[in-house]
Amino acid sequence: MQISQLSRKNVQALTPYQSARRLGGNGDVWLNANEYPTSPNFDLINRTFNRYPEAQPADVVNGYAQYAGVKPENVIVTRGGDESIELIIRAFCEPSDSVLYCPPTYGMYSVSAETCGVALKIVPLTADFQLNLPEIERNLDSVKVVFVCSPNNPTGTFIKRSDLLKLLQITAGRAIVVVDEAYIEFCPEATMVSELTNFPHLAIIRTLSKAFALAGLRCGFTIANEELIGVLQKVIAPYPLPVPVSDIAAQALTEQGLNEMKQRVANVLENRAWLIEQLKTIPNVMEIFDTETNYVLVKFQDGQKVFKALWEKGIILRDQHKALGLQNCIRISIGTKEELERVVEAIKAV
Ligand SMILES: *Cc1c(COP(=O)(O)O)cnc(C)c1O
Repeated sequence: MQISQLSRKNVQALTPYQSARRLGGNGDVWLNANEYPTSPNFDLINRTFNRYPEAQPADVVNGYAQYAGVKPENVIVTRGGDESIELIIRAFCEPSDSVLYCPPTYGMYSVSAETCGVALKIVPLTADFQLNLPEIERNLDSVKVVFVCSPNNPTGTFIKRSDLLKLLQITAGRAIVVVDEAYIEFCPEATMVSELTNFPHLAIIRTLSKAFALAGLRCGFTIANEELIGVLQKVIAPYPLPVPVSDIAAQALTEQGLNEMKQRVANVLENRAWLIEQLKTIPNVMEIFDTETNYVLVKFQDGQKVFKALWEKGIILRDQHKALGLQNCIRISIGTKEELERVVEAIKAV
């Protein structure tokens, strides 16, 4: 009897999330995880390590609530946005319930659902990367949580606000609608936060990993009405955030931290515009999808050839060839100007 055979059946069947780090590569240009290309610098202020931390560090909760325009009761801090995803499934889904999601989208919704042994209902996005609402409505039986990513990873596109509102209407009283806003800092006007007063079943996921340039910190949030947050508080680990994490997160949420974040966003948007202009001139490029984020999805004549050629030069991008409907597509995170120059040069050389 092998130990792995003692694990739950769904865990035995599970294919773990193919994170950028797991996929490896031997690069000096890393543009495969939508990280910010340089690190902010922080010193620790709190050096008390012998005591357990606060369950929900007040300065982080208050700082994030103020930044997001909600009350502290509307915020729970988690170990990255990824923990928020699993927490919502664990708190709301019975084994007989299911989770609905709309590929091509972020891979962790299905991985977390499978880990929890919860069934998946898959309703692909339409050809223009929007919700297929009639099909979602037909599939709502037994669905407890619907995940929508907007702006969507890996396409970079928005889900129409009017469609999100219709989704909230057809799910009222029966399921939680999670809107994953991991990239909202790059298009802040698209946030659904203002709808929280209308929809008690809306949960919004956020993170410090992208515009805040703190992917290594592991700090994320769920924003929702107090009752929903209360449910998540019941199931979250007792001390989810290490002292150094909350210390740095609180600093990132000060006025100065927020100004630096906005500066970073402006820088990303400038570099993104430059990259898109360059890509338009390359014959091998078939389509550059609209983007509201810190990455751009590009369709090539032979995407896999481009991906491999750059990989061999130490330029690590994210291959999307196997994602639903994204044959020959590559996702390119916006790096420094120098990194993007190397990308452009290398693509031209393929
Ligand atoms: C990056 C990302 C997250 C969360 O990442 P964490 O690093 O766990 O905070 C959540 N959703 C999407 C779509 C993402 O791209």
